[in-house]
Amino acid sequence: MDSIEELFRNSDISKKMGEILRSYKGKQVTLMEVCGTHTMAIHKYGIKNLLPSSVKLVSGPGCPICVTPGSFVRTAITLSRDEDVIITTFGDMIRVPCDGESLLDEKSKGSDIRIVYSPLESIKIAQQEKNKRVVFLSIGFETTTPVCALTVLKADELRLKNFSMLTANKTIPDVMEILSADENLGIDGFIYPGHVSAITGNSLYRKIAQNCRIPGVVAGFEPMDILHAIITLIRMINKNEADVINEYSRIVKEDGNQIARNIVNEVFEESDSVWRGLGNIPNSGMKLRQKYTKYDAHEIFDVKDVDIDEPAGCLCGDVLKGIKIPPDCLLFGRTCTPGSPVGACMVSSEGTCSAYYKYGQ
Ligand code: SF4
Repeated sequence: MDSIEELFRNSDISKKMGEILRSYKGKQVTLMEVCGTHTMAIHKYGIKNLLPSSVKLVSGPGCPICVTPGSFVRTAITLSRDEDVIITTFGDMIRVPCDGESLLDEKSKGSDIRIVYSPLESIKIAQQEKNKRVVFLSIGFETTTPVCALTVLKADELRLKNFSMLTANKTIPDVMEILSADENLGIDGFIYPGHVSAITGNSLYRKIAQNCRIPGVVAGFEPMDILHAIITLIRMINKNEADVINEYSRIVKEDGNQIARNIVNEVFEESDSVWRGLGNIPNSGMKLRQKYTKYDAHEIFDVKDVDIDEPAGCLCGDVLKGIKIPPDCLLFGRTCTPGSPVGACMVSSEGTCSAYYKYGQ
């Protein structure tokens, strides 16, 4: 019997879906995939090659590394220079450039910077390194924030005094509302992120659909998930239906994961947040609640994130809004490559520039 992955990668069905799409004769539509994992899948599986010229796919701000601003990276670099500090971080963050420097550079100069696959690993490190202060770089969307919250609760349970988090966690709905309302972007439909929706549920996208008259489909990450989402969106757009359909029901439930949301609500509260290329967006971030500020590295080390200009020529901001595509950037594939990234969108394995570089259009 075929596995779920094999079923959703069935080439015969994919071809049929491609035929349906190529026979589309309706109006020109622009669809945005919000999630970086969708962006990678779209390029990896050559989904754009199956689309007629009247269907355009653009990428959105759904790569957590890409939207974390240079100001945060600068603060992390500053903290990493403190001999008493061990920085723990997800892998891609270490390579994000900031004013010609990166955490990787600091590591090569001797700073203690360790890559972790879960923030909970930072707790073990803090227990082992009692004379050091461990700072976890807490970034990510609704999918990642629950485990960040769990980590704080664990630190609290163990009464750890040498653990803290530098937070830049973000939430998706408010940025989507901003993009939806921007007529210059001309988005006709959204492919909503499957992983985030597994936590949030899909009901919160209905407000966007109804207020901005833009339909959306919550989709998984296999080729057929994405093709099916595109077909559904085109149908809804042409019928002028502004609704949200969940086509990832094998993972996403209408109300999401209440247990995960409760853990997040215990530890975090809504805050404004600065996004790379999009600036400060009210209520689009998560900060530690008063009760847990003893784990807030910004407070403990008395550091503030200070605005940083994007590298000269880098169009990451416009790429994250779907206004430009990576080949529009003069640095793409020339001075900016995955081996020598100039901007964050070329660093992350979910970054749009990285996807274009690796798989082409
Ligand atoms: Fe920025 Fe590089 Fe992408 Fe250009 S190609 S937008 S410099 S990340």
